Amino acid sequence: MLFGRKHKNPIKIADKGVVEWKYTTCGYCSTGCSIEVGLNKTGDAVASRGVGSAPVNQGKLCLKGIFEHELFKSAGRGSAPLLRDKRHDPFKAVSWDQSLDKVASEIKRIQDKYGPDSFAIVSTGQIMTEEFYTLGKLSRGVIGTNNYDGNTTLCMSSAVSGYKRSFGSDGPPGCYDDFDDTECLLAIGSNLPEQHPIIYWRLQQAMEKRKFPLIVVDPRVTMLAQQADIHLPITPGTDLVLLNSLAHVILDEGLEDKAFIDSRTSDYESFARLVEQYDPITSSRICGIDEDTIRNVARTYARAGAAMTIWTMGINQSTHGSDGVVGINNLNLITGNIGKPGGTSLSITGQCNAMGTREWSSCSGLPGYRALENEQDRKDIANYWGIDEEFFPKKRGLFQTDIFPAIETGQVKGLWLIATNPMTSMTNTPRIRKNLEALEFLVVQDAYADVETNEYSHAYLPAAVWAEKEGCFTNTERRVNLIRNVIAPHADSKPDLWIFNQMAKRFDQGKKIKFPETAEGVFQELRELSKGRMLDYSGMSYEKIEAQGGIQWPCTEGDETGSPRLYTDGKFQHADGKAKLIPLPFVDNNERPDEDYPFWLNSGRVVEHFHTRTRTGKIGNLNKFSPTPYMEMNPDAASELGIEHGSYARLTSRRGDAVVMVQLTQRVPPNMVFVPFHYHDCVNRLTLGLLDPHSRQPAFKQCGVHIEPAADQKAASVRNKAARTY
Ligand code: SF4
Repeated sequence: MLFGRKHKNPIKIADKGVVEWKYTTCGYCSTGCSIEVGLNKTGDAVASRGVGSAPVNQGKLCLKGIFEHELFKSAGRGSAPLLRDKRHDPFKAVSWDQSLDKVASEIKRIQDKYGPDSFAIVSTGQIMTEEFYTLGKLSRGVIGTNNYDGNTTLCMSSAVSGYKRSFGSDGPPGCYDDFDDTECLLAIGSNLPEQHPIIYWRLQQAMEKRKFPLIVVDPRVTMLAQQADIHLPITPGTDLVLLNSLAHVILDEGLEDKAFIDSRTSDYESFARLVEQYDPITSSRICGIDEDTIRNVARTYARAGAAMTIWTMGINQSTHGSDGVVGINNLNLITGNIGKPGGTSLSITGQCNAMGTREWSSCSGLPGYRALENEQDRKDIANYWGIDEEFFPKKRGLFQTDIFPAIETGQVKGLWLIATNPMTSMTNTPRIRKNLEALEFLVVQDAYADVETNEYSHAYLPAAVWAEKEGCFTNTERRVNLIRNVIAPHADSKPDLWIFNQMAKRFDQGKKIKFPETAEGVFQELRELSKGRMLDYSGMSYEKIEAQGGIQWPCTEGDETGSPRLYTDGKFQHADGKAKLIPLPFVDNNERPDEDYPFWLNSGRVVEHFHTRTRTGKIGNLNKFSPTPYMEMNPDAASELGIEHGSYARLTSRRGDAVVMVQLTQRVPPNMVFVPFHYHDCVNRLTLGLLDPHSRQPAFKQCGVHIEPAADQKAASVRNKAARTY
């Protein structure tokens, strides 16, 4: 195919020799794009393209999706199980039986010696829903540890917690089609063009057809902020003050939806009393947004026929992330913007199947949005799995962010990590290194043997990646989509489902419970366990899901398709059927810049990076854009410190230091710098990570740093070597 002018430098796209296209779903972000992977005549994956008929992406893919087929043969893949007696000794390749026997015997040894909860399991947001469910069955129903969680605590637990507090259940109530109906969109701490490019494309399409106000709250002038009608460059960590003040103006000026409040919410009085204190003048001094803008935004939002809020990590990764989510829900409840087209609180999730783990992994409870704290739920699942209900704990155990401190206190002695990389993703890297070194046994299960955390393991289990296996992901708008098995797993790597099933066979209780061998067999259990519940899958089948490019739950038995929105009948999941308006006093409890550490350190994702770069760092066409750790810095602040564009600078916080290349830009204000957070041994050497009291999610985005010029990047490698002896 030729593009460009006829006789001058035409661009020729090479014929990749595709003989077959196979349907699957992108395995990076939670947008949920349908992909076809092209295979050549020798069965190699050589191309990726979007599925034109897919409701989510309508044929489009972002940069990551376009090169996703290159994952199968990317560097660093694990080829065989590995074992060693002492960490840092060389690994020995062993058989699957040897490795699984060893892991099972270490789990039993540690549990026998220190108790069942002394062995912890931390998984991911990136394996299939069927694998999550099976891992939950193994962890809760066989191994019996209560210290079992997912790395989604680092990204989505504030959204989960906020939804539960407001509506009585997790589950994003809206969908992407809401862009087509909304009359005002408020985006808080969400840079869609870089983080979720195809959702952004959907938003752009809607705005091109029908102009409506776009209001962006972000301390940086992000790509989305550059297109906003109103940009609110808020002081980091003060979203709650802004949200309370918007509610103050709405109630003060009588702009609220009284009928909705009266019929569908509870606790209005105490909420109204609290927001009375957040007048725009007082609030503006805390959140840094002038009082007129607060009033203008409140009026614009409340007067829109339908208004919606989207958010991502800017809200969730905070010491009051859960309150921030509840604050957004409060705003939408008082304006009647839940359960109607264009009116919603839509958290944009991160990892491809963060939703699947929320629904089915049993990390925070039991499968299908059931709670350990609920006797009937414990009974139902115990009966279904065929075990004694007393085997289940009566409340959830530690979150991921509490499991690591529990290693320090000796409460946790062994750890199984599945597709997660805490040596890069967790705050305060030096402390995490110490934690991992204190474990009696660490097993890492990952598609990549060179993942940084594997340096500290005793056992490594090589997992198949993405479409080397089959199963479902749920996306941001509750759409369950299918990942068809495109090619066979690399070398001797195995699907996570197979690994969990084999592990179950090594425990007495595991021999009593049925573990279906195929993903579709597991899916049947999901259909049965969800029947009649909020997240009803019973009307779905693999064939229907593929034919429709994904189905949104609930989809009840006999339904042809799913449901785009929740709460359309005005009934919420709290016992009284109402949504709660919750008063949220603001407590400023985070680290702030001071004389010694005068800059805010902000962090986030850039479009070519994903999930600690375990995968994107291996794809040449992604890695080439920003292979070197860098920071965005305001030119005025840099010139005061004698720092130049393209030079190196050392950032120091109370936890550690990092050397980065400097990119001068007006995107950040003079008192703030921004560093992409997926580089290893970089931003998380600096972060403090105080935890949200409800969601236990860390405040990745707010801490104080000192900045000075660094001679060159060598300073970083010398420092890193020293740090390893920490
Ligand atoms: Fe994949 Fe997300 Fe890009 Fe879609 S937007 S192609 S789901 S990374």
